[in-house]
This record gives sequence, structure tokens and C-alpha cells, in this order.
Amino acid sequence: MSAALEIVRVPVLADNYAWLIHDPASAETVAVDPGEAQPLLDAAAQRGWTIGQVWTTHWHPDHTGGNAAMRAAGARITGPAAEAAKIPTLDVTVGEGDTVRIGDHVADVWHVPGHTAGHIAFHLRDDGVVFTGDTLFAMGCGRLFEGDAAQMYGNMRRYAALPDDTRVYCGHEYTQSNGRYARVAEPDNQAIAERLAEVDALRARGEATVPTTIGLERATNPFLRAGSAEALAKFRAAKDAFKG
Ligand code: ZN
Ligand code: FE
Repeated sequence: MSAALEIVRVPVLADNYAWLIHDPASAETVAVDPGEAQPLLDAAAQRGWTIGQVWTTHWHPDHTGGNAAMRAAGARITGPAAEAAKIPTLDVTVGEGDTVRIGDHVADVWHVPGHTAGHIAFHLRDDGVVFTGDTLFAMGCGRLFEGDAAQMYGNMRRYAALPDDTRVYCGHEYTQSNGRYARVAEPDNQAIAERLAEVDALRARGEATVPTTIGLERATNPFLRAGSAEALAKFRAAKDAFKG
């Protein structure tokens, strides 16, 4: 059993979260979705860490904007093969069924389309950790820019099947807005009302609301709880129009 990974949240741009994963055993460090480079380089340097890899979930600039500078600083950039044409900084391309590593820790690559066509997630099964990019959010899911509700529903079923204590690291601080919609989507769900009150308190203090867990999402996320692709489609369309 290798030592636990350290995972550090790094706010970048307006409301993105990038992440540093550090493996004390190997001294390796991975940056996930660096929308800009400097905050991650600084956060790593403060801890005496060197970023050797970048894992990219999808091509959007708020997740890849720092790749070139990371690469120039010596990192190897891994991302979705299906989006390689849109991510010129990739050194390693991966897709469903591939694995990536940090030290002895292995992440399974999942193809989770819908937000973008080639979107991937990184599931560190033995660590109980999943990096979901812009697919599963706290109390929400990503917008359907390059796919459909059936695809996102399939992604949600996969996430929902993970153990409840799996920690979920997503790409944005959208929880308060998601929670306000979640209350409308499921007005009788007391767990949502309670969580939103906690989220409101955290945000009033300027604090982050992620990571979350699969168990908490199973209780409070209408998109993860949706019983069909049609139900998810209805929620997604309503959230797109929601002015909460
Ligand atoms: Zn995105
Ligand atoms: Fe994003």
C-alpha cells in the first residue's frame, strides 16, 4: 500500500479549480486542468514540488490555458486523444480503458462525453478519487456543448456506481448556483436544502465547496439522481434557463 496522495486545490481564472496531486513516495506531482500556469507553479514551488505531468480533461481554454507554460517548465502533457487536434500541447494521448500513473498510483481514464465530445475523467480507484472536469459538479453537471443528455446520463450512471466515499474533484466552483437550481428541481429533498444552507455559509466566508463525495452527490445532485436520460435532459434545459 503506497502512501496517500496529497491533493491541493488551486483556484484559477474566474471560478475554475485546478488541482495538484502529489505522491510523497515518488515525489511526483501532477497538475490537473491548469487553466493558467502561474498559480500552479507557485503552489508547487511553495511546497518544494516539481510538476512533472499535466492531466487534461478536455480542450476548453479554461482547462488548458496553462499547458504551454507547464510544458515549457518541463511537464509532460496528457489529454484526450479525441481532442488532440484542439489541444496542440499534448505529449501523450489517452482514451477509455487507458491508464495514467503518478508514482505507483494508477488512474483509469474514462471517456465521459457530452460537455465536449472527447471529455475524459481520471479515476484513481485505489485512492478513491475521481477528477471529473466539467462533467460531474457538486449538485450539478456540465453543459451539453458537444453531446446530448443520453451521453451525460451514461456518465452520471458510471459516477453513481462508485463507492459513496469516493472524493470528487471537479473543475469549477459552481455549487451555490447549482444548489439553488437543485432546490427547484427537487423541492421536497431535505438533503438539498440542508446542503445549500451549508454552501451559502461557506461562500459567504469565501470558502470552497469542493471536493465533494459520490455519497453526497447521490443524495443532493438532481443530475446524478435523474432516473432517465429524459429526466436529465429536462433538468439540464431548466438549469440553462434558470435565473437563480
Ligand atoms: Zn469546459
Ligand atoms: Fe470549464
